[in-house]
Amino acid sequence: MPELPEVETVRRQLEEVIPGWTITSVPLAEPSMLRGLGVRDFERRLSGNSFSLPRRHGKFLLLPLSGGFWLTVHLGMTGRILVPTGPRSRDPHDRFVLALTRDGCRAWFVFRDVRKFGRVELSAGTPAPRVAGLGPDGWTGVWDSGYLARRLAGRRAAVKALLLDQHILAGVGNIYADEALFEAQILPFRPAGSLGPEELERLAAAVRATLERGVRALGCSISDFAHVDGRLGSMQQELRAYQRQGQRCERCGGTLERTIIAGRGTAYCPGCQV
Ligand SMILES: [Zn+2]
Repeated sequence: MPELPEVETVRRQLEEVIPGWTITSVPLAEPSMLRGLGVRDFERRLSGNSFSLPRRHGKFLLLPLSGGFWLTVHLGMTGRILVPTGPRSRDPHDRFVLALTRDGCRAWFVFRDVRKFGRVELSAGTPAPRVAGLGPDGWTGVWDSGYLARRLAGRRAAVKALLLDQHILAGVGNIYADEALFEAQILPFRPAGSLGPEELERLAAAVRATLERGVRALGCSISDFAHVDGRLGSMQQELRAYQRQGQRCERCGGTLERTIIAGRGTAYCPGCQV
């Protein structure tokens, strides 16, 4: 599933191609993406709007339009955005398609999603309401170890489960949670409220550092547009904990183990994470 670095990579790719294109029609929109509007009404609202600079919060892509509308995109497990020019090539997994024009040229905004967990939502004035309930962005947001201390205080849930909670920090998923806890040398099943100030400092720094590494690795490895298809690019070679159970710990030489936390496979080193 795409996490913050993967979504940031898509945002940067979109930033290169999408600003300035104007929506002319809505050739395809699944009912779940219309939020109760008829497709003609949806089309009437969107037509004539042009895209400006894309933003991101956590795992959500936020696409502001010139008319005050927003498209909020969640890629789910397999969602991809493509902006092909020329005649439209149809695909059975296309869920949402906009026809675009700029300087007499035509293009398409295509949301393609094989497993259907992704979503495109239209809203007026602000991004989709569920974005407002998210915690600060894990990479670029304003938060620190003091914020973590306040949010984790007294919580008996596993620290990893709370790192995955998008209401606390937005953008951290299974990969980067395992990596950050490994880097901070904290066991993933520790009760969140048991972490001391120094551990919280280490954890805060590790979350930002691992997300940063992810953004850098994915940004370098992806050359053509919209590659959010589950590949990790060169990040795969940089992973030190995620799915490395049974392998040697590069820090202490011990063997990484696996457990389940919040329903997610979790790898950790019992030798050097405490
Ligand atoms: Zn170790």
